[in-house]
Amino acid sequence: MVQETYDIVIVGAGPVGLLLSLCMSRWGYKVKHIDNRPVPTATGRADGIQPRSTEILRNLGLKRSIMAYEPAKVYDVAFWDPKGDGSGIGRTGSWPSCPRFIDTRYPFTTLVHQGKIERVFIDEIEKAGTRVERPWTIHGFKNDGANADYPVEVQLKCIDTNVVETVRSKYLFSGEGARSFVREQLGIKIHHKDPIAYVWGVMDGVVRTNFPDIEVSEKGKKAVKPEIHKTNILQTKCTIHSDAGSIMVIPREDNMVRLYVQIASSTDPDWNPRKTATAEEVQQTAKNILKPYWIEWDRVEWYSVYPIGQGIAEKYTLDERVFMGGDACHTHSPKAGQGMNTAFHDALNMAWKIHAVETGFANRSILSTYESERKDIAETLLNFDAKYAALFSKRRPNASEVSASKAVSGNDGEEDEFVKTFKSSCEFTSGYGVAYKPNIFNWDASHPAKSALFNIPNVRLTPGRAFTPTMVTRLADSNFVELEQEVPANGSFRIFIFAGNQNKTQKAITDLAANLEKERSFLSVYRRSDIADVSFFERHHPHSKLFTLSLIYAGAKNELDVDSIPQILRDYHHHLYADDIPDVRVPNAKFAAHEKLGLDAEKGGVVVTRPDSHVACTIQLVEGSGTADALNEYFGSFATKPLGQDSQQSRL
Ligand SMILES: Cc1cc2nc3c(=O)[nH]c(=O)nc-3n(C[C@H](O)[C@H](O)[C@H](O)COP(=O)(O)OP(=O)(O)OC[C@H]3O[C@@H](n4cnc5c(N)ncnc54)[C@H](O)[C@@H]3O)c2cc1C
Repeated sequence: MVQETYDIVIVGAGPVGLLLSLCMSRWGYKVKHIDNRPVPTATGRADGIQPRSTEILRNLGLKRSIMAYEPAKVYDVAFWDPKGDGSGIGRTGSWPSCPRFIDTRYPFTTLVHQGKIERVFIDEIEKAGTRVERPWTIHGFKNDGANADYPVEVQLKCIDTNVVETVRSKYLFSGEGARSFVREQLGIKIHHKDPIAYVWGVMDGVVRTNFPDIEVSEKGKKAVKPEIHKTNILQTKCTIHSDAGSIMVIPREDNMVRLYVQIASSTDPDWNPRKTATAEEVQQTAKNILKPYWIEWDRVEWYSVYPIGQGIAEKYTLDERVFMGGDACHTHSPKAGQGMNTAFHDALNMAWKIHAVETGFANRSILSTYESERKDIAETLLNFDAKYAALFSKRRPNASEVSASKAVSGNDGEEDEFVKTFKSSCEFTSGYGVAYKPNIFNWDASHPAKSALFNIPNVRLTPGRAFTPTMVTRLADSNFVELEQEVPANGSFRIFIFAGNQNKTQKAITDLAANLEKERSFLSVYRRSDIADVSFFERHHPHSKLFTLSLIYAGAKNELDVDSIPQILRDYHHHLYADDIPDVRVPNAKFAAHEKLGLDAEKGGVVVTRPDSHVACTIQLVEGSGTADALNEYFGSFATKPLGQDSQQSRL
């Protein structure tokens, strides 16, 4: 019997599986996507979208639908501690969720439950032609290479009917969450980073309270106590430590609030990983911790007690055909709101790399960078989480103990360790601290591409880190636009040619264009097969589906001479820009985008970003062939075909 073939089989429709499925489906791949639950997540589970993830969701065109749920936005985190005189807790400080030193358009955590986020993904995946099939599970798989194009055989079983379907695929991806069948079958071990394990209670609901970090709404007129006549919506994220325990309070959409209560830790004398607690017990703990304030529940929407082991898979793949991501590879406490976010990053990283290989652009060997990049980030996350979780769980010294210790040490005004850890970790937890190490994609001096033009002097971009947000004017329609969002997440590399002063760089731009047109340039070698029929309205891929070029002049919109821009660059008519919008982060800059990125506003420079918007390399813009040669060298270091070094003109 002829077996059905797929480009990828994705097992699991949580955040990691859904984002991967969306990218692959939209980018034209045939996807088989299954999940063993009959229905998607209805309530609860992860809820915090961090700033960099919001940027990614925007780039995928999903942000608007998620924001339509009117999620809570957390800009600030308050710290509450025991007052020391037995009268309960007091507010001891606060800190922005995303401090100003982090350059982001979204300096807040967006709070909306996982089920709603999944819904947005599922709708878009369906529009792209893939349906998540439920309730199906994975029954077996083997990479037997029996079919060279589709080397992996996968057996899938319908849980309702027990029907087993055998398909062949180029890739199998496990996004199964913490209990991964695929991981188990591969015999991949989980390393427990921190021997400490926890049991957490988490509860979503609508509360009434006189706790001060609140916004009061007139909505709830029905009182549960005679003196309470308003529904209180907790508006600030709070970490609360009291003599009665620790709790984290998180505002949510629909007037809800989430409480995280640690129920047990392996450091407890009576540690039991199966310890559980009723909703009433969690509520009572919260009441004790919040004293002298009161809290009552109008409604509990979701409640769960779940154990958390801090673990990381020793491998994310064994053969670069069967991969895993998300919770299947790393688990940790929910306190820093990283689970779903890390899953998103895993999926995007996986998607564009498979795309680079399957389009015939990149050597298969680049797939190894999925594990090296993402595992490194997971290690950092787990180290941070271990420290943060331990500090969170530790009873905080009360005010009298603090003053006693200060009297002994003479160490006044020193910040508490928990607050220090929280503050120093903000960049990482926001997602902007994700810094991939040098490798074939992230240029440094050890990279095989050796042109002297790499790494523009004084540039303020680091290969491996996310591209910095900048505003520019789009010449096509005079709109003020966010440059980093101008190319959607479509699997292409983005080449931003910051062209400085048009009069000064005219020759450099003409030379670059002429060299891009050569038959062995990256743009020509990987040109579209249908190039003769490309629509005039094609915005991003007039020449190749792998690259989008953008040209940004340091100059006012009306002063630029568009006619003198070489045709090959004018083909990107929606990607011609003027750098003429002020930026508060560089208040004295005349050409804010150039100057913020550390680019000379006269000479410009080229910035290449990967399809996930992380910086790949920067290259000086010079007259002659040097800039194009460096681009050819960079892409040639992982491309399947030789690039550069010829003089013939191409058919672009
Ligand atoms: C009960 C619970 C509460 C949580 N609460 C929080 C929280 O409060 N805050 C927070 O940050 N994080 C929380 N998390 C963690 C967070 O949900 C995860 O970090 C995040 O969802 C990871 O995404 P994922 O796609 O890797 O895995 P998951 O979201 O776990 O998705 C895995 C999917 O695969 C399916 N699946 C599993 N095995 C198979 C199989 N063999 N065949 C087919 N389908 C399969 C599952 O049904 C599921 O739909 C919670 C997790 C759980 C389980």
